[in-house]
Amino acid sequence: MFDFDDYELWFVTGSQELYGDEVLQTVADHSREIAEYLSNADEIPVDVAFKPVLTSPREIEALVHEANADADCVGLITWMHTFSPGQMWINGLRSLDKPFAHLHTQYNEELPWSEIDMEFMNTNQSAHGGREFGFTASRLGLNRKVVVGHWKAQRVLEKLGTWTRAACAWEDIRGAKIARFGDNMRHVAVTEGDKVEAKMQFGCTVSGYGLGDVVEYVDDVTDDEIDATVSQYETEYELAPSLREDGDRRDSLREAAAIEVGIRTFLEDGNFKGFTTTFENLTGLSQLPGLAVQRLMADGYGFGPEGDWKSAMLTRAIYVMGQGLEGGSSLMEHYTYHLTPGEEKVLGAHMLEISESIATDPVSVEIHPLDIGGKADPVRAVFDAETGPAVNASLVDLGDRFRLVVNEVESVEPDEPLPELPVARAVWKPKPDFETAIEAWIRAGGAHHTGYSQAITSEHLKDFADIADVEFLVIDEDTEIAAFEKELDWNEIRWRLDNT
Ligand code: MN
Repeated sequence: MFDFDDYELWFVTGSQELYGDEVLQTVADHSREIAEYLSNADEIPVDVAFKPVLTSPREIEALVHEANADADCVGLITWMHTFSPGQMWINGLRSLDKPFAHLHTQYNEELPWSEIDMEFMNTNQSAHGGREFGFTASRLGLNRKVVVGHWKAQRVLEKLGTWTRAACAWEDIRGAKIARFGDNMRHVAVTEGDKVEAKMQFGCTVSGYGLGDVVEYVDDVTDDEIDATVSQYETEYELAPSLREDGDRRDSLREAAAIEVGIRTFLEDGNFKGFTTTFENLTGLSQLPGLAVQRLMADGYGFGPEGDWKSAMLTRAIYVMGQGLEGGSSLMEHYTYHLTPGEEKVLGAHMLEISESIATDPVSVEIHPLDIGGKADPVRAVFDAETGPAVNASLVDLGDRFRLVVNEVESVEPDEPLPELPVARAVWKPKPDFETAIEAWIRAGGAHHTGYSQAITSEHLKDFADIADVEFLVIDEDTEIAAFEKELDWNEIRWRLDNT
């Protein structure tokens, strides 16, 4: 559903003509070497293409136009080997429609102390060339990643890699289509939002469909397709006795398989990257899609329940950013609390729809009543999540802007086994502590639905928010309520000025 091999970064070096051919040749040689090194670095998941050194405004503009028009190019890495006068960049940078990262590095790691002469000084001017470029980008008010250090340094590769993943998620979401089966859960506020604004801000289209549109697909699923899907379930999961071959609920498992194949085919036919459902709009479907959603999410489809298209967008972007990294990601909901002082934890789950990409073995497939919605009992995968560092992220619509709120958390084992809980779940401790994290989250208007990930970090989400130009708030080990409240107040002014 997503392949980094489809994308590339362009390595762009700034200079100017007055250095002469010899220096410019050295600059080009160094740039090519760095681009190749970055291209081969495991931390950066796409190829990095070397581009000829830019020495004039016309060349810069031509390159920007080429990048804008190139569907494979997810962004530019810019480097000023020498001094490249900022005014040369203004027209080009103003028309750049792709993300860029300013790599502030220099070719040599060590100064050649005993040999350094004016020729060396003339050729290696990143320290001031990068400042001229930085001023120009700041003067233009452009969002960009700034990465400082030697180009072989681990931290530099990691930061570039993180930003690359965000740039790929951006390219992916800009053309994305989300299918919304049914509308919003009635009366719910946070799952609503301005879909026109979403198109303007993220380039993502959210299209509504009646349940009849997907029911047609489910009805067209053949017995052979159901057999094939059920046999996958038998291979991958521990089936509850009633769902096994001679079990008395076997028909419900077959129905779940038909729903999965039907939705999958609908999404494939329409080239969708995400979807929403809501238990209040299920006309024609016998059961709420549970297992189907869990499996489709694990395959890369973004998902939001109760019509939550913003979560569908966000979980898709998180999936893309996390591809190839250790750990899965999922739609999540802050469901219920353990409030013993000093031991506070959040139990995250949903009615059903947690991606199996975050599961630990064993994954059992069970059938239980939903107790809400008045439909047949839905089939679902039940499991505990992997433990370790994770993030919860929420994209909300404040009316005049989108805000991305992120909380860094530590996923932990449940205090005790949960044998009676018939849904997939994660248990976590929020940073910096329960009281601060939850108060900050609530003050920020963070939703109950989140994109939860053990693959990516808040830095990926920060880079994504910067590229999308939306407000970003992180709640992490350094968060203090008094400062966070001020940040909220300041942001209110900053973003309202930005929108005038
Ligand atoms: Mn929900």
